[in-house]
Amino acid sequence: MKKILSAILAAAVMCTSMLALAGCGGSKKGELHMATNAAFEPYEYKEGGEIVGIDAEIAKAICDKLGYTLVIDDMDFDAIITAVTSGKADFGMAGMTVTDERKKSVDFTDSYTTAIQSIIVNDGEDKVKSADDLKTATVGVQLGTTGDIYVSKFEKDGAKIERFNKGADAVLALTQKKVDAVVIDNEPAKKFVEQNKGTKILEEPFENEDYAICLKKGSELTEQFNKALKELKDDGTVKKIIDKYIKA
Ligand code: GLN
Repeated sequence: MKKILSAILAAAVMCTSMLALAGCGGSKKGELHMATNAAFEPYEYKEGGEIVGIDAEIAKAICDKLGYTLVIDDMDFDAIITAVTSGKADFGMAGMTVTDERKKSVDFTDSYTTAIQSIIVNDGEDKVKSADDLKTATVGVQLGTTGDIYVSKFEKDGAKIERFNKGADAVLALTQKKVDAVVIDNEPAKKFVEQNKGTKILEEPFENEDYAICLKKGSELTEQFNKALKELKDDGTVKKIIDKYIKA
């Protein structure tokens, strides 16, 4: 009896120290702050005061794996890279496309999904029927996004670009006929069209992009994130999260 008891006790002691080593409770290593713009459904958006979405869930899974507590900081998309480079946030995740320009100021993890830019127009209006028509149109975009960068190239052709802090404000301007089209990532575009009767997405998609997480240049977290991300891709977690928010 005594032997059994001490065996149980020994096992309990071992478990406790193992839990301590594993960072049980998730907060052993402290918090990691994620900078995002929670107005980009299905990647990050607010639901009942909480920030949910594909990015929020993948970030949580990575932090759980690495033993950190995730804290999400909401800000304008345009402010995310500065938050990361200044150290105010530990990483940025916001349906953010990897670009050479951004790589000059931050490091990116491996990509976790892809996207394409979509053109939203008002039903029954034919000013913009293709990407080429953007060159002579007034186009709404979200400030500092790849949509902004893409259509800004058309300014020399005569395009007028209206830049908004939120995609929803760009779409509102479209429904009010203040802009002829909105260029934004395909999945948020689908959500905006669902929410705004009388708008539609043009068939012709353009600009294929890779989404990734950005971190401070030289951060040792990047390698850890990549390792965790690979495991979450390999065991099907990333796909499961994406499929939960994007129905085929
Ligand atoms: N994918 C686009 C970019 O990186 C838009 C991201 C966003 O608006 N959240 O610029």
